[in-house]
Amino acid sequence: MDIELARAWVRAVAVAVEKNREHLSDLDAAIGDGDHGANLNRGFAAAAEAVEALQPETVGAVLVKAGTTLVSKVGGASGPLYGSALRAAGKRLTGASADPAEVAAALAAGLEEVRRLGGAQPGDKTMVDAYTPAVEAFTAAAERGAALAEAAQAAATAAEDGARATEPLQARKGRASYLGERSKGHEDPGAASTALVFRALADTAAA
Ligand code: ADP
Ligand code: MG
Ligand code: MG
Repeated sequence: MDIELARAWVRAVAVAVEKNREHLSDLDAAIGDGDHGANLNRGFAAAAEAVEALQPETVGAVLVKAGTTLVSKVGGASGPLYGSALRAAGKRLTGASADPAEVAAALAAGLEEVRRLGGAQPGDKTMVDAYTPAVEAFTAAAERGAALAEAAQAAATAAEDGARATEPLQARKGRASYLGERSKGHEDPGAASTALVFRALADTAAA
């Protein structure tokens, strides 16, 4: 991953979130307050704009900038969580490019930060349920020597499977947990958006 690819990734996430804004908000309306699409659309549009204006010297600087922008633009739970994940990931990428193993470690650092801040375990019906299998798949691919595009493709598929698997779960973190049993039967919006983030990386890396 180089600086241009990192920038293109942020841009691709902004495009995907805008396209899926209504779907994400509909998912959130079922088990939360219906603002997830609007929250992320506002945040990633601002993040894409911010990284466009930036003249970074490292891959990480792009992700840190995107993360800082998300934290400042999104009031909901997802802004600080995504923002902190991107910041933690970015801090690991201190060169003008990063190989798949370095990207894997950065993505894992982002996940660790989400888990530290939000306290969610896998199975709690949150973004962690998509992010965890994505990191595992990316890391496994990097370890067998896969290129970035292939690792990202594996991660995107794993994130999509993980997001889909949140549907029957009962939420134990975030707003949806207030519903108790009634949170079952709906896909978690944050897990769905995490799948978009990894799909955007796969598409960007393949282009
Ligand atoms: P809010 O719930 O404040 O309105 P959003 O609707 O933007 O924020 O985001 C909701 C998503 O955030 C959830 O679907 C879930 O994936 C994620 N989330 C909420 N709380 C946590 C947490 N403690 N840990 C991990 N993810 C969380
Ligand atoms: Mg919400
Ligand atoms: Mg909200």
